[in-house]
Amino acid sequence: MRKLDLRPVMTVTSQNSNISQQEIREALAGVVYENLHLVSISLALLFLVFTIAHCVVLPRPIAVPMITVAFLSAVLFTGLAILMKRSVITVRYAHQTTAGMAQIVLANSLLHLYLTREIHQTTNILLLIVGVACFCLSTPYFVFVLLTALIGWGLIVWSLPPSPEWLHFGFAMFAATVLALLTYYVRLRTHQRLERLRLQDIRQRTELEGALIAAKEVERLKDDLISTVSHELRTPLTSLLGFTELMLARDFPHAKQRDLLNVMHRESLRLTNLVNNFLDLQAITSGYPPYHFVDVELTPLLHETVTVFAKADEKHTWETSLPDSLPLVHIDTDRIQQVLANLVSNAVKFSPDSGVITVGAERQDMMVKVWITDQGIGVPVEALPKLFTKFFRVEEEATRVIGGTGLGLALVKEIIEAHQGQIGVESTQGKGSTFFFTLPLATPPSADGERNLV
Ligand code: ADP
Repeated sequence: MRKLDLRPVMTVTSQNSNISQQEIREALAGVVYENLHLVSISLALLFLVFTIAHCVVLPRPIAVPMITVAFLSAVLFTGLAILMKRSVITVRYAHQTTAGMAQIVLANSLLHLYLTREIHQTTNILLLIVGVACFCLSTPYFVFVLLTALIGWGLIVWSLPPSPEWLHFGFAMFAATVLALLTYYVRLRTHQRLERLRLQDIRQRTELEGALIAAKEVERLKDDLISTVSHELRTPLTSLLGFTELMLARDFPHAKQRDLLNVMHRESLRLTNLVNNFLDLQAITSGYPPYHFVDVELTPLLHETVTVFAKADEKHTWETSLPDSLPLVHIDTDRIQQVLANLVSNAVKFSPDSGVITVGAERQDMMVKVWITDQGIGVPVEALPKLFTKFFRVEEEATRVIGGTGLGLALVKEIIEAHQGQIGVESTQGKGSTFFFTLPLATPPSADGERNLV
């Protein structure tokens, strides 16, 4: 028996673990967002303290605008913290929110510098630049905050009276900018690496879990296969062995011998059918041997199928619903014969109390539809969606008694789909079933040698 092909489900490629730049960007936004709520609450408290400090320390004309702006900033940071808590501001806006918060702090610092006209207020802006470098993880937004801070500071210092400290703070500003750029670069690279590793880890874990589930499913299928096949092999083999031993041990009259040989013949057919179905399904799913398509008229094939089955089975009434001729279809004849044999033998098998079996066909648009109807045990409605899957059998006493492997319909589906056709079933439990499939029409050659549809 050929081994099941497990390759497609078992591969976990390192290629699958490549992480795109977009994914890294999103992950970095996540890192920033994780801490944004805490930063926003801290800034709200800080600006509340500033508001109070401004009331106490600053001279009146400067105090009023500074208190107002600091208090408004505290309110804004509180509002942002609430919006984040309620997930109104999502991770998508992490970088924008960071830049916005930096702008609020910057506005306070620049205003302070402008109103006090004291160059040493530059220290607030130095802190801000380095602080943003320690938090931001988006280059465009970081550069934006840095530029607005430098330009704003430059413009205000430009308007101040010349001071001997100008050079000192100018150099401090330059050093802070270099430090901020360096800090930002190192942090960004470290986080990019960490996030890449983390994402690769998650992806590999997901792939491994998927492969594990698939492997378990294959394992389950193998168990099903072993129990089904061994049961199905044992039953006909036991009767073959029993009957041959019986015939070897005793001399039976001719009529009895024929009866026994008939049973043995039926059991051999069952065995052949089982092994063929299994090997065919394996071969067809692995694409070998390839299909040989030819243009065929289906009516003789359908008549022949009915004749062969009707000869071997006198229990059922056989009917056909076929037109005199059908348009040509483009099929692999051997495999469509296999489909018909499977569906018709199922109709026989699953109508144990006799009844009418009808084989019909008609043209439907650019397809030919074929159907096989029986008046047998039918299929419960919940089993219908799973009927064409490998090893599926209806879990009921009647089906168990009849026996089978659950491979026939899976094989039929593979073949019909390889023909670009469709397969389906309508069934009422206890009343019977109709299995149908469609096959595409052949395309006759046109005058210029091309093939056209009929
Ligand atoms: P098998 O016949 O070997 O069990 P199939 O794949 O041919 O395998 O069929 C799968 C299941 O579908 C069967 O076990 C049976 O439960 C159901 N089935 C198939 N054909 C019919 C039918 N004509 N009438 C009722 N049930 C059917």
